This record gives sequence, structure tokens and C-alpha cells, in this order.
Amino acid sequence: MKYDITKKYIRHGNARPGHKLTGPIFGVAHDTGNPGSTAHGNRNYFDSQQPSASAQVFIDDKYILEIIPLEEKAYHVIYDVKTDNRRYGHNANDAAIGVELCYGGGIDFNEAYKRYVWYFAYLCDRYGWDPEKDITGHSKLDPDRKTDPENALNQNGVSFRQFINDVKREMDAKGIASATDDNLLEKGDAGSDVKKLQEDLMTVGEKLPRFGADGDYGTETVEAVKAFQSRYNLTVDGVAGPETTDKLKQILKKGDEIMKPTGVLNGTFGDYLKNAADRGIIEQSTVQEYEDGEMTQSNAIALVALIESATPGTEVAEVHQPAWEKAQEEGVFNGERPNEPITRVETATVLKRTGAFE
Ligand SMILES: [Zn+2]
Repeated sequence: MKYDITKKYIRHGNARPGHKLTGPIFGVAHDTGNPGSTAHGNRNYFDSQQPSASAQVFIDDKYILEIIPLEEKAYHVIYDVKTDNRRYGHNANDAAIGVELCYGGGIDFNEAYKRYVWYFAYLCDRYGWDPEKDITGHSKLDPDRKTDPENALNQNGVSFRQFINDVKREMDAKGIASATDDNLLEKGDAGSDVKKLQEDLMTVGEKLPRFGADGDYGTETVEAVKAFQSRYNLTVDGVAGPETTDKLKQILKKGDEIMKPTGVLNGTFGDYLKNAADRGIIEQSTVQEYEDGEMTQSNAIALVALIESATPGTEVAEVHQPAWEKAQEEGVFNGERPNEPITRVETATVLKRTGAFE
């Protein structure tokens, strides 16, 4: 790999309760907000002080330091913000990896930045993230309170946009391709990479009936990899090399493609969402997310389930208020269930009450 990753985990405590992370689904870019503090300096602080805040990774000009295992939760974004839930379906602390850039003081920004960019490219490659959608900044999730990582980046003439572009460029470069080679998994390997492979294999329908995702690459995993390779006409060797993992990523991605907005809302999924938003079942910002081309298929499916199973609210939209009141005065409706659908026979009754048939 282009850079070494140093794993030196802090002990368990408030900063590292050891709870299992979902995913990880996305990454949050931070800076420490504490100029001159190094990766190891931060590690010592979190290890000894155990504040109820933390991040998995700290990066300075010499070290990429993982202080909490990537499969465990850290506390780097306050729970009461909503953007993380809306965009990713989870609170950042429950499903994201927090990466802190150390800067200022005696830290060489260029060296630290190169490692920071490379590490995000490494995470994108490892977890199949798209840098455009799956890397966000602390300031994007909590704009009222936070300015990182733009604070550190901007001081050094780098915009967030450029940072994302640099991550993409790094992924295209050799640095990450060689990381993939090093990450070749085979019989006898163990650890979180193996566990992730096993989970992915099960997600795409391969069977690990006896041991499941236990993190040990044994005979059962070899057989599952072989079954997968044979299904997709790859070399059947039971080794999870780049060809196999790329295919796996591709299959996994297919299940979660971005919904393509049509631009015209009439009679489309967007129209359906808009209607649900008008009825107060989902937020207007969710419609916007679809129109902006940011909604994944799995999110869309979850939304349909939510919309179809929702009980219509009793709130009457302002635009309908005068007519709704008039209809009650005239005895056409009794004022109950204002947002529920109405059948043809009920429509006939409503028309009769208005005197339309006389
Ligand atoms: Zn932050």
C-alpha cells in the first residue's frame, strides 16, 4: 500500500464502548479543530480522558492512526441532526466512519492532506463507496455548529469540492489498485475483511450454513467463493482476489442503484412522492432528494413501504381549508378522516348530499 495504516486501539470506555457499527455506509470528514495536535496526541487524549466523543481515525503528516476498529461505533456527530438520517437512513455515529485531519502547528499540511485523501480513497474502495455520495463533511451534517473539515482545508487553499475530486483521482491512480492486491483474501485468513467478504457473499445469495460470517476463511468460505466464481464465470479457485471482489461489489451495487428522476413529476414516482409529502407522510426534502438524483433504490423501496402503510394525518392543508369547512357546513362531509381516499359509491353519496342529482 502507498501508506501504512497503524492500528493502535484505545481501551474501552466512553469514547469506545465497543458497539457494532452498521455498514459502514458512509464516511464523515472532520478536522480536529485543535491546531498542532497530532494523531498520537489525540489518541492519548481519548485513551486517557475517555470523553463521550471520538472518531475511528486520526491522520497527521506521519501517521494514519486507527484508534477505534472500523467495525465499532465512535461518537463524532451529534445525534439530534437530521441530514445524516435523511441522506443515509442512519445517524452518522451508528453507520459512518469518522476521520479526523490533524493540521496546523508543526504538522506539514501537504503530507497530512495526501494521507487523508488516500485514506478516504482506501475506504471507498474497501466498502464500495462512491466519493460523491458516500463522503460527507461534519459541516454538511451539522452546519449550525460545525465548520470542519473546511476550516482546516480552506486555510490551506483546498475546497471540499477539490478534496472529493482528489479522492476520486487517488482511486483512479495506482495507490488503491495495489491496496486491493494486498487485500487478497484466501484460506487461513481471518479478521474483519474476511467477515465483510462472508457477509457480502451471503447478501448475494451464497451459503455459509455452518459458520456464517465468523471472520475465519475456512473450507466453507472457500466453497462459497467457488460457488460465486462459477456462477459468474470467473476463475474458480476459492481465492477472493481483485476479480472476485470487483464482481461482488458490482453485484451488490446493482441492488442499490440511484433512482433516476424523470424531471417531469406528472404521473411519475416523483409525483407519488410529492403527493405523500402534501399529505404530510414524508418531508418535502425527500422529494427534493429524489429530484436531485440522490435517492437510492433501496431507500425508494423503504419509502413506498412507509407511504403505503402510513395512516393519513388529520391536518387539512391550508389550500383546502375553506372548501373543507364549507363542505361540513353543507353536511357533505362530517369532518372526519380528511385525507383518506374515497370510493366511487362514496363519491355518489357525496354528490347526492350536494343536491347534484335533483
Ligand atoms: Zn468534526
